[in-house]
Amino acid sequence: MNQPVETVTGPVDASKLGKTLVHEHFFFGYPGFHGDFTRGRFDWNEKRNQGIEVAERIMQHGVETVIDPTPNDCGRNPLLLREISEATGLQIICSTGYYYEGEGATPYFTFRQSLGTAEDEIHELFLTEVTEGIEGTGIKPGIIKLASSKGEITPYEKMFFRAGAKVQAQTGIPILTHTQEGTMGLEQVKLLLEHGADPSKLVIGHMCGTTDIHQHFEVLKQGVYVAFDRFGLQGIVGAPADEERMAVFLGLAALGYEKQLLLSHDTVNIWLGKEPILPESIAHLLRNWTPVHLFERIIPMMKEKGCPEEKLNKILNENPMHIFTGRKEEAEKNNQAGKAGLS
Ligand SMILES: [Zn+2]
Repeated sequence: MNQPVETVTGPVDASKLGKTLVHEHFFFGYPGFHGDFTRGRFDWNEKRNQGIEVAERIMQHGVETVIDPTPNDCGRNPLLLREISEATGLQIICSTGYYYEGEGATPYFTFRQSLGTAEDEIHELFLTEVTEGIEGTGIKPGIIKLASSKGEITPYEKMFFRAGAKVQAQTGIPILTHTQEGTMGLEQVKLLLEHGADPSKLVIGHMCGTTDIHQHFEVLKQGVYVAFDRFGLQGIVGAPADEERMAVFLGLAALGYEKQLLLSHDTVNIWLGKEPILPESIAHLLRNWTPVHLFERIIPMMKEKGCPEEKLNKILNENPMHIFTGRKEEAEKNNQAGKAGLS
């Protein structure tokens, strides 16, 4: 294998990833779901069967790999993902990481932060999972997931960023982030680079949460990947409309940044705890928030608006592989081309 990538069923070569969705959650629960049993206990077989249905639906569009960056504190379940992968043949890559301060299970490491031991312990946790596997399962994460708040990276979150950068420098594992409403992308990159990260293995996530193209340029200039990974998610969590994020994406692709762009939906397919009951106005806006929305609507629309099929194929089929192989020189070359196009 030239570049092994850890999936929940073991390593595969990066060249075998194929068409990939870089950010979808099979299962996700906001911390606290563990205490809510009003709809009965967690039913493994039911969840497994629901997960298989999701995988089969995605695979109908030729997708061969899904990155599921569910943080450790939001119900990450590598054994369940492995059963879904084994039953369907879909390659699933899970992560190691913690969610942002506002929505993660923060008291555990906040307490340890007050004792002065947290950052070393986070580093040890990431490194152990990456090198030995998760909770004795032998399943290794393929990426590190990091997350920051709207308008700031809190001291709590910075511990995870510094630890993640160090583990990437030690092991070469890619990092994929959560930005809140597309803010702090540049600050995330700078913090990670300061601590030894490789820009060609960094994915700055949810950048489609902002329509301020200046922010996309600033982040792209660092040679990292920018993910438009929330298609279909509108009207909640500060997300703009699909049409707005598509305008920004098409502009960047037209300027020659396609080698640094990624696409996905950030769907939550099966909620842990109770399924949320949405008011009709929001349910309407989220009607297309499915893991096949890109293939059924967005990509055909992008083609119709003049985005060449070749660029879209590269973004879905090749860029995800390069997150794992790295492509420093190419990114720099593309960066130059992008700048030339602007001057
Ligand atoms: Zn997500």
